[in-house]
Amino acid sequence: MSDRAPRGTAGDVDDPAIGPATDDGLRYPGAQAPYYLAAGEEVAVFEMCHARQLPLMLKGPTGCGKTRFVEHMAWRLGRPLVTVACHDDLSASDLTGRYLIRGAETVWLDGPLTRAARLGAICYLDEIIEARPDTVVVIHPLTDDRRILPLEKTGELLEAAPGFQLVISYNPGYQHGLKDLKPSTRQRFVALEFGFPAPELEAEIVAHEGSVDRNMAVALVTLTNRLRQLGDRGLAEVPSTRLIVAAARLVASGIPVRAACRAALLGPLTDDPELLAAMHDLVMATM
Ligand code: ADP
Repeated sequence: MSDRAPRGTAGDVDDPAIGPATDDGLRYPGAQAPYYLAAGEEVAVFEMCHARQLPLMLKGPTGCGKTRFVEHMAWRLGRPLVTVACHDDLSASDLTGRYLIRGAETVWLDGPLTRAARLGAICYLDEIIEARPDTVVVIHPLTDDRRILPLEKTGELLEAAPGFQLVISYNPGYQHGLKDLKPSTRQRFVALEFGFPAPELEAEIVAHEGSVDRNMAVALVTLTNRLRQLGDRGLAEVPSTRLIVAAARLVASGIPVRAACRAALLGPLTDDPELLAAMHDLVMATM
């Protein structure tokens, strides 16, 4: 990758890929690119959206590489990255900021969205669907042409700095109860769909991320694809690339492969004894 833009700076870097997080969760690109193996045109689409100031929505199952992709793109584009894991207690003030009492003074503290808009950072709102609708609406004015963030409490009308980009993600396959993104929110975004990588790509990722050889990576991916077919038998979520990487890391640290599969691939998926037994049989037959 030789065509990268100049990076932001943040002093010493702990993690060579993404750099240290500051107090407010801001990360500057580190020395090396976060490893990301592309499956299609997603890198070009992201770059184009960044250049055209279009917000992006990433849809796909958990553990399929969405977060890694955003980290990689922040690095490629030389932008700081602010990540917020959304949940139903997240309030608009958690995103925009609030007044805090410090000694005798009252001081305003920017929230992660405001900080990203001021600095021209990429703001990644992970699992946006978990946030309440009254929280999600605060991002609306940042997604239209004006790219502004009205801060009601301070009276400031903040214009997002160049380079600011909003990226949201969610898992459409997961049962979120009654939660859904409103059409008025959805239609502000360009959507990129993610799935699990094709077997050859997934094996390459597992070999790299799990530090196992190619044969072991292929075997773990083959097993996982068989396990994924059990999705129809009541598994709420099928095993992700993240889980295969975890199993590979156990194997690389000397745990016997079947034990590693049971601990990292099967256990996290279900407590149902019948399903666990069926999956266990697959492990014994495949590994
Ligand atoms: P998500 O955000 O979709 O839940 P992550 O980005 O956290 O998933 O991916 C989980 C892990 O899977 C990553 O930490 C990485 O090890 C691996 N991974 C998945 N897809 C890729 C990919 N295309 N390139 C590199 N690593 C990947």
